[in-house]
Amino acid sequence: MDKKVIVITGASSGIGEATAKLLAEQGNQIVLGARRENRLQDLANEINQDGEATYAVTDVSDLESTKGLAQKALDTFGRIDVWINAAGLMPQSPFIEGRVKDWNTMIDVNIKGVLNGIDSSLKTMRDQKTGQYINIASIAAHETHANGGVYSATKAAVWMISEALRQEEAAAKSGVRVTVVSPGAVNTELVSKVTDKNVQKGMEAFYKAFAISPNRIAKVIASAINMPADTALNEIVIRSTNQIA
Ligand code: NDP
Repeated sequence: MDKKVIVITGASSGIGEATAKLLAEQGNQIVLGARRENRLQDLANEINQDGEATYAVTDVSDLESTKGLAQKALDTFGRIDVWINAAGLMPQSPFIEGRVKDWNTMIDVNIKGVLNGIDSSLKTMRDQKTGQYINIASIAAHETHANGGVYSATKAAVWMISEALRQEEAAAKSGVRVTVVSPGAVNTELVSKVTDKNVQKGMEAFYKAFAISPNRIAKVIASAINMPADTALNEIVIRSTNQIA
């Protein structure tokens, strides 16, 4: 397998962290982005024992900060082969509570963060005539439920942005592939950051019953990356065998 330069947002925990470890084990050069520097530093040190990684403290809701992550990849490894948009938050709540701050954070990180990632790297991939986006949506992009309206809307937006990008890059014959990964419940820090404690309690029970390891998501991301360049795995829906919805 060819060595690739892979940028991962949301790399300080959960799906991003598990994916960074697996892709590094497979011989790729990894560029880690998130806000918690101590986590990024520890992970980069761990990977650098046997592999290659660097990091940049990044807030994906800020375009300049996200561009800094792309620049770190170019300065360190000279190219960007894959950009994984894994940064995201899920502070769900009923609309009546009016948690506008949470709504805005989800829009800023889950939607604008993905757009900022695309804007920070697409021209580089076009120039290289090869590249790939892995955008982490959710099964919440395909269905919604009480308390989950804003989160689902942000993940549906990720799905739509990804599909339009796929069509544009296919039409341009740019060699840029687009993959959306839509997981069900995954055992990460996501639920611990839900601000509505009642909603969080319900989610904890659900996650206890159904959540799968983030290593499973890392595996399908790796298989999308390792697919021959003439073929794009465009969407992967992945959840516990026993998760109904
Ligand atoms: P975690 O909470 O473990 O990871 C979220 C990551 O996003 C962290 O690394 C966090 O790092 C980062 N992040 C949050 N805000 C920002 C920001 N403004 N700028 C940069 N990074 C940020 O959860 P998961 O690993 O589960 O989440 C990864 C993705 O998977 C998310 O998009 C989530 O919506 C999606 N997903 C998760 C599912 C699940 O059940 N766990 C199911 C379906 C989809 P830091 O705080 O250091 O910035």
